[in-house]
Amino acid sequence: MKSLKEQLLQAGLKPTQTPKAPNEREQIKKKQVTEAIIHQEQRNFCEECQQVRPDVELYYHHNPTTEAEWICVKCADQLKIADSCRQTAQSDTSIKKMFRREHGATRSPSEIKVQKSDKPRGPVNGNR
Ligand SMILES: [Zn+2]
Repeated sequence: MKSLKEQLLQAGLKPTQTPKAPNEREQIKKKQVTEAIIHQEQRNFCEECQQVRPDVELYYHHNPTTEAEWICVKCADQLKIADSCRQTAQSDTSIKKMFRREHGATRSPSEIKVQKSDKPRGPVNGNR
């Protein structure tokens, strides 16, 4: 005597394997690329000579003769501000790797990490 299963098969019922859900999606989690967004715009206005220059960088210097901090190469040289005071390598000249100081040694761009907040020192009240 045939088993029930065989009878069913003969009757046209096919054993069905549970199909894999066709809509099953492989969960691909893309790595969230979090790029640091630099909000700061490129500065090219020299606060010292009041001119637009392609080689303006931020200097945190202690030169008492000027309040300027965004200074072009020419003025930085004239003010004898050491390149070690330079905080940025953001100018066109720097980007083109043509940044050269006459006064003292020129820092390599790799030494200068772009600071998170390159806001010029100003009347910022640290008290909360
Ligand atoms: Zn200048």
